[in-house]
Amino acid sequence: MLRILSLLLIGLMIPLVGTSAEKDDHGSVSNQASWDYSKEHGPSHWGELDPAYVLAAVGGSQSPIDIVPSESIGADLPTLEIEAHPQALHILNNGHTVETICPGAGTLRFGTHEYELRQFHFHAPSEHTINGEHAKVELHFVHADNEGHLAVIGILFFEGEAEHPEIAEILSGAAVLHAGDEVLEESKRIDISQLLPESLDYYTYDGSLTTPPASEGVRWFVLKQPLHLTGEQIKAIEQVYYSNNRPTQPLNARFVLTGR
Ligand SMILES: [Zn+2]
Repeated sequence: MLRILSLLLIGLMIPLVGTSAEKDDHGSVSNQASWDYSKEHGPSHWGELDPAYVLAAVGGSQSPIDIVPSESIGADLPTLEIEAHPQALHILNNGHTVETICPGAGTLRFGTHEYELRQFHFHAPSEHTINGEHAKVELHFVHADNEGHLAVIGILFFEGEAEHPEIAEILSGAAVLHAGDEVLEESKRIDISQLLPESLDYYTYDGSLTTPPASEGVRWFVLKQPLHLTGEQIKAIEQVYYSNNRPTQPLNARFVLTGR
């Protein structure tokens, strides 16, 4: 009923039939054990919930991490190049986060490597921390190359005065308060170039998915320049999910690299 009501209120949105299979934070359909951010099934237990999640407990290259800029290693790294291909707005509440499904809405080039954007989603507060400090929100752009290798761009958001128009667009379409809610809004275009900061300078390291199955071999780019949202926008994101952040994981033998 609520779903129908919100549909009426939203007018042009087209509801999509929800799938009964659970989709994980990074877009793949899974029949594995359910997990969340609670005490019982939360991050400290993910590794025990399903044999497929074991890396969450024993992996040595896990994400997120605390980034300490003064300890990052300067290196000659390629600049990130992102080409946007605007497309219709398609939003899904997958039970763990609100995800904008947008395969092909962006191409990421990193040196000779090319990745295609699959989806982006929010965490509140941020998963990565800088010198131990959380941002209010972190947005993850999840990309994959032809062989399925993942690269994720993380953008941190703090509270500011001005509304972020592109996020406002997503949030105004976000009648996705409940797990399984999904809307496709043909009349709204999502242009990921409007979601990026001016500078694409980044910290990079080898990490993992921050949700089960916590698969490793994920190339992370955490952008240095944060963006801003109004307090209201932050609240709107927190209203859907709050505390969907995995705690930071040990760096172990890894280095965080940055361009010089
Ligand atoms: Zn994420």
